Amino acid sequence: MKLLELVTATANPDKLQEIQAILASQENLDIVLLPRPVTVPVPAEDADTLEGNARIKAKCVADATGRLAVADDTGLEVDALGGAPGVYSARFAGPQANYEDNVAALLEALADVPVQRRQACFRTIALVRAPDGAEIATEGVLEGAIGVVPQGSGGFGYDPVFIPNGYQGQTLAELPAREKNHISARGQAFRQLAKALGAAKLG
Ligand code: IMP
Repeated sequence: MKLLELVTATANPDKLQEIQAILASQENLDIVLLPRPVTVPVPAEDADTLEGNARIKAKCVADATGRLAVADDTGLEVDALGGAPGVYSARFAGPQANYEDNVAALLEALADVPVQRRQACFRTIALVRAPDGAEIATEGVLEGAIGVVPQGSGGFGYDPVFIPNGYQGQTLAELPAREKNHISARGQAFRQLAKALGAAKLG
């Protein structure tokens, strides 16, 4: 089996844990995730697209280490909010917002929106970048709806208010981690990425 070492660009331990679990179950490729070097500064994610932000993170680590780097960027797109918060999902309640603040701000913004109009999706871009600038980027999407109150203690971020289609009122935060990773936008994007990396020559 092909062995590939990727330096992770994410500084978010919740995402890192999921990416490790998702990539560990690949059959075509043995991917070893190396930790983000603490000496590499965390760049501002100031692009206006998910792919742009994933590229900023991966390029910063690939340039600093001279190795293949992997990053992802995820947004929650809510139909009733015209696709917001999207690329601004981490900062929906303000620049210093934590997960709970963002969930509270989202529920507040949707307070007058009836359950049948609360459709939303998670979108993830996963991106590997080589020091020479070569890249592979993949996308995953999970469709669902925003609940009325937070439910469940698993996952992170907006998981307690995201009800995937077909899950009858259960939020992502109520699913076992394996089940979340099986259906999630991140799971889809990283499985595709592993498939593409298995076939590609990068770095
Ligand atoms: P990031 O820019 O990819 O780190 O993600 C932006 C924000 O989206 C995070 O701060 C979380 O609030 C949210 N988010 C990312 N991934 C997930 C997920 O898998 N479940 C729920 N929320 C997520």
